[in-house]
Amino acid sequence: MENSNLMPLIMMLLLPPLTLLANPTPPQWNLYPSYYRHLHRMPKSLSEQIFFKANTTEKVVALTFDDGPLGKTAKLLRFLHTHHTPATFFLLAPQLSAAKARRYDDPLFEVGLHGYHHYDFRKLSPSKVAWELDHALRLFHKYNLHPRYFRPPYGMVSPTLLHALTQRHLDTILWSIDSQDWNRYRGQKYLHNILTTLTPGSVILMHDQSESLITLGKLLEGIRAKGYRIVPLSTLVSMGSLIP
Ligand SMILES: [Zn+2]
Repeated sequence: MENSNLMPLIMMLLLPPLTLLANPTPPQWNLYPSYYRHLHRMPKSLSEQIFFKANTTEKVVALTFDDGPLGKTAKLLRFLHTHHTPATFFLLAPQLSAAKARRYDDPLFEVGLHGYHHYDFRKLSPSKVAWELDHALRLFHKYNLHPRYFRPPYGMVSPTLLHALTQRHLDTILWSIDSQDWNRYRGQKYLHNILTTLTPGSVILMHDQSESLITLGKLLEGIRAKGYRIVPLSTLVSMGSLIP
């Protein structure tokens, strides 16, 4: 996905030069350092409207996959189904078709909205924000998908966006563990990055097709070996949110 490929570049542009030398991120958050700082600076009035991770001591976590559906999504869905693994998919509306939408029709899976275009919503006018959301929702509804959740591209929110989402009864979902699969993390590094920072209530950000199914299988084993259960995102949301 071209948009995922742009992510490292965009994050680099956001980075103050010294950010990589110091990682102030506390252990219950595994976020890209500049992104953690960004969230930390966000006014509480905004972050309190966002779900990042569940406020729980129960060893439960949720898996989320952004940017689909893509060419090999069907394989990913079959793999997760075979491994009895719940997951939430934040989809880009124009990539849907009736056949692709039907693949998510599984009690294990939840579908959320990721947008129409993969835009940074902070840069859009209120009317453009409304256009993006309404056109995306129209396509979702056409394919009988009724999302309750929205994940903003690049994790970027604005007061205008949050207001528009509330009006449309969509909850804003970010994450507490960034797999950094968009940063070409692979294999053991990628697994290590997630498994060493699991805490109760974690929401793990991944991207559709960025992981090989072998790596994903090891991840599922690793999560369960640490005594964690993978649950639907909605289960975590019902527990209330912690903010960075
Ligand atoms: Zn995305």
